[in-house]
Amino acid sequence: MRILITGGAGFLGSHLSKRLLEEGHEVICIDNFFTGNKRNIQAMLENPNFELIDHDVIDPFKVECDQIYNLACPASPVHYQYNAIKTIKTSVMGAINSLGLAKRVNARIFQASTSEVYGDPSVHPQPEAYWGNVNPVGIRSCYDEGKRCAETLFMDYRRQNGVDIRIARIFNTYGPNMCPGDGRVVSNFIVQALKGQNITVYGEGQQTRSFCYCDDMIEGFIRFMDQGETEGPINIGNPSEFTILELAEKVIKMTGSQSKIIHEALPSDDPKQRQPDITQARKVLGWEPKYSLDEGLKPTIAYFDKLLAAGESH
Ligand code: NAD
Ligand code: UDP
Repeated sequence: MRILITGGAGFLGSHLSKRLLEEGHEVICIDNFFTGNKRNIQAMLENPNFELIDHDVIDPFKVECDQIYNLACPASPVHYQYNAIKTIKTSVMGAINSLGLAKRVNARIFQASTSEVYGDPSVHPQPEAYWGNVNPVGIRSCYDEGKRCAETLFMDYRRQNGVDIRIARIFNTYGPNMCPGDGRVVSNFIVQALKGQNITVYGEGQQTRSFCYCDDMIEGFIRFMDQGETEGPINIGNPSEFTILELAEKVIKMTGSQSKIIHEALPSDDPKQRQPDITQARKVLGWEPKYSLDEGLKPTIAYFDKLLAAGESH
């Protein structure tokens, strides 16, 4: 198949591109390199089945393709809050442009939605049927509401135009190819530990997240995209839940670092808990994560170690 990936030079997009090329598909990557990096796709640029289009998804695009994965959007709070209005435009206009293309070329289209649609959840763990607890006017709203609106658009393009959609709600995912300076917790802690800097735990560190290794996530994406039983929304994530303090301690131990944990102010609207209910993914996709946090952190630490040794910090 000819498969278009918006945001294909980012963390998850680059893993997905690599996997689809290995399966013998042609991959077209659209990216504006806001948070993506040429380094992530360098090896693929040589591959005749890989094509890179430097383009911003808020402007329309035309590509002949059989499938579309819509991943373009900054995912780290630091990056998506950098230009909040642009983040909403990317989510909403990017979805409209991707859906318009899917409709025109009759392609199946996947939306990288997020656990953020549940906001600061009052139901735990979060099943897909939960409507969420989202602040519409806070500093995370540009991302959360942008992604919620994108889900609405996907459903309306399906209902109104019969577009063949798949909506995945992704929970915190980590691994090689994350940007070392992107401000997300796994990259921050590993980079701080490797540099011997203080580990910055926001608040008391009792808030929880459930971390999924990238290879598990990509397997979930492909199984979901290639089945015909459900269009979603479906949760994809690792249900093993950790406090942020536990993560900090684990990273210090695994890197053998002398770093000390310090506490900084908790950003507003920071969700207190997050854990996917993956009953649906288990049942419909026959999918569940294989990597424990320890198993996934090992290659992730090795990746950042190599990057820092080469003097790369972005
Ligand atoms: P990332 O920031 O590494 O990748 C996003 C990519 O989109 C980057 O390459 C960036 O340059 C590109 N991009 C951003 N705005 C664009 C625009 N206007 N036009 C074209 N390209 C643009 O993030 P990621 O972790 O790989 O996330 C990929 C997708 O998955 C995002 O949509 C994100 O919201 C979603 N997601 C990720 C996670 C996670 O934990 N990694 C969790 C939930 C949802
Ligand atoms: N966090 C932290 N220190 C950091 C970065 C993040 O304590 O240096 C916390 C953050 O407050 C949140 C959790 O780690 O509670 C996950 O943050 P991240 O930015 O990775 O993603 P989120 O799940 O909040 O979108």
